[in-house]
Amino acid sequence: PGRLLELHDVAVHFPTRDGVVRAVNGVSYHVDKGEVLGIVGESGSGKSVTARSIMRLTAANAVDAGGSVRFRRKDGSEVLISAEHRQSRTMRALRGGEIGMVFQEPMTALSPVHTIGTQIMRTVMLHRKVSKAEARARAIELLTKVQMPRPHDIVDRYPHHLSGGMRQRAMIALALACDPTLLIADEPTTALDVTTEAQILHLLKSLQQELGMAIVFITHNFGVVADIADRVAVMYLGRVIETGTVDEIFYEPKHPYTQALLRSIPRLGGEKTRRLRTIRGSVPDPYSVPQGCSFHPRCDHAVAGRCDVVVPAEARFPSGQVARCHRAGEVLPEAAE
Ligand code: SF4
Ligand code: MG
Repeated sequence: PGRLLELHDVAVHFPTRDGVVRAVNGVSYHVDKGEVLGIVGESGSGKSVTARSIMRLTAANAVDAGGSVRFRRKDGSEVLISAEHRQSRTMRALRGGEIGMVFQEPMTALSPVHTIGTQIMRTVMLHRKVSKAEARARAIELLTKVQMPRPHDIVDRYPHHLSGGMRQRAMIALALACDPTLLIADEPTTALDVTTEAQILHLLKSLQQELGMAIVFITHNFGVVADIADRVAVMYLGRVIETGTVDEIFYEPKHPYTQALLRSIPRLGGEKTRRLRTIRGSVPDPYSVPQGCSFHPRCDHAVAGRCDVVVPAEARFPSGQVARCHRAGEVLPEAAE
């Protein structure tokens, strides 16, 4: 299908009084057209900062510390998104026009002082030469597409009139206003109750199939990834430590961190036979990322003199699965209970 987005060695740092926070420390991943890439990791792993750097929407104090982001436009041309692009015409055309974004909190995207319809119409009219009437018809069409109840009524409502799940639908409608080829979804279901979460996931999945867009789906929840993603990238302390298909990541994880994360999630009906284990230690302070493999202080398989000294290179498997671990490919015993 072809490459849509490619990140190469992206780094984003935040200088603070107490030192430099290396929030994103050389992240590479790619997304093909029409593909769903799940980005999983604990909070503070750099998932969101990386995604925001694609859109050049990182906070004002963020320092672009290198790397490149390439995006294939609808017209077939390729753009190199760089720091200078932050305010450029190209970036404005991409944001909302070719790349849509949805967040955990809908009110980061929706304005409280305008109706849902007005907000969608503005986005449509910013990117396309259409009349007001056409833009309004498009808004109603989009609200219908996201299965909003009573779209003809909701179009004239303000966000505070809507429930959490309906706001999430409105934000998705806004993100889809100009038929993006890429949707970046940052924990879009995390704040919702389980039933609404399942509905929104189902909606995103069916929209993705209907519209053929690609999604970068960011979550801390492995269960959600299993539902929606084709491929998965696992992040730890500002790096991608493993990538593979959903099946590879779930059934044949190669990196000890991925293995440990999977052991820490409950499986339905499995609790009796399989004790849940948490990963020992805690995520290190981002001011002092450990030397060598940053997971080594918590890893049951660390080799002294190697793991605590040398940053692991990418180990590439024939299937395409990639793990950044010195021991990837070895059959590692499960640590004793
Ligand atoms: Fe563990 Fe070493 Fe692999 Fe890091 S490189 S995950 S410390 S075995
Ligand atoms: Mg986040």
